[in-house]
Amino acid sequence: MIVALSGGVGGAKLVRGLSLTEQPTTTIVNTADDFTHWGLHISPDLDSVMYALSDLSDPVRGWGVREESWNALKMVEHYQGEHWFQLGDRDLATHLIRTQCLNEGQTLTQATKRLCNALEIQVNVLPMSDDLIQTQVETPQGWLDFQIYFVKECCQPEVKSVRFQNIEQSKPTQDVLNAIESASLIILCPSNPVVSLDPILRVPGMEMALQAASAPVVAVSPLIGGRAVKGPTVEMLKGLGFESSPVTVASRYQSFLNGFVLDEQDQQLKTEIENLNLEVMTTNTLMSSDEDKKQLAESILKAWL
Ligand code: GDP
Repeated sequence: MIVALSGGVGGAKLVRGLSLTEQPTTTIVNTADDFTHWGLHISPDLDSVMYALSDLSDPVRGWGVREESWNALKMVEHYQGEHWFQLGDRDLATHLIRTQCLNEGQTLTQATKRLCNALEIQVNVLPMSDDLIQTQVETPQGWLDFQIYFVKECCQPEVKSVRFQNIEQSKPTQDVLNAIESASLIILCPSNPVVSLDPILRVPGMEMALQAASAPVVAVSPLIGGRAVKGPTVEMLKGLGFESSPVTVASRYQSFLNGFVLDEQDQQLKTEIENLNLEVMTTNTLMSSDEDKKQLAESILKAWL
C-alpha cells in the first residue's frame, strides 16, 4: 500500500497520478482548512482530492466541480447572505451530505468513506483526524481564519505566523496510524508545506509514526524554479522567515525523510539536499496533464518501492 500525505489541489494531482498507476493507495488529507459556512461542514482539501479522483474537478477554474451551476449562490446573494465563498450547486451537495452524516453522529472518516464510495473512488481517502483543527494566519490585520485569508482576502495580507487551533488536543485516527504502519512507501505530495502538510505532521503522534514507519518516506518539492505552481507557498515561507527554496522544504522533514524529488529546473540544488542525508531524484514535477501525473507517480514508485 502506498500512502500519500496531501493538501488540496497540488497534492490531489499526485494522488490522481498514483491512482492511475493502479497501485493500491491510501491518502491522508489535511483537514485544518475545514470550516463551517451556511451551516455546512466544508472540507476543501478532502473535496479537491475526491473531485480529482472521480474526474469531477473543473479543469479551467482549478477548483470545485466541472459542469457547475450557481443557482443557490445567486439566491443566497439575493437574500444578502454571505457569498464570498463560491459554492456551486453540485459542490453544495457534497457539503450537504457530509454535514448530514456528521449531524447523525458519524465521524468525518465515515462521512468521507460514504462520499468516496458513492463516487466509486478506489483510493482510500482518510482525513488526518476526526477532531476539528483550524488553521489561522496572523496578518497585520490580526489573526484570520484560514478561509478568510485564502479566499475572502485572496492571500493578499502579509503572513506573520500560522497556528493550528486545537491541534494539541487532537489525535490521528486509527485508520491513519494503521496506514502509516503498514505502508510500503510514504509520499509527501507537493502541497503547501506551511498550511497543508504541517497540520498533518503536527497532529500529536504523526511525526513519531512516520519516524517509526518501516517504509521509505519521500517528499516531492512544491516549488519549481523558485516559484509555486499555484497559491501562497512562497509568500508564506518568506513571511515565516524562511528562504523559499526546496532545501527549506526538505529540511523541514529531515527527522523522518529518506528521499526527495526535486524538479529538473532546480538541478543545481541537488547536492545541497543530498547533504541533508537524503536520496534525491530530479525529474519533471510539473503535473499539467494526466500523463504528467502518472509519469511522476511511476518514477517515484520505480525509485523507492
Ligand atoms: P491547496 O491546499 O489547494 O492550496 O493545495 P496544496 O497545498 O495541495 O498545493 C499547493 C502547492 O502545490 C503549491 O506549493 C504549488 O506550488 C504546488 N503544486 C501545485 N501543482 C503542482 C505541480 O504540478 N507540481 C509541483 N511540483 N507542485 C505543484
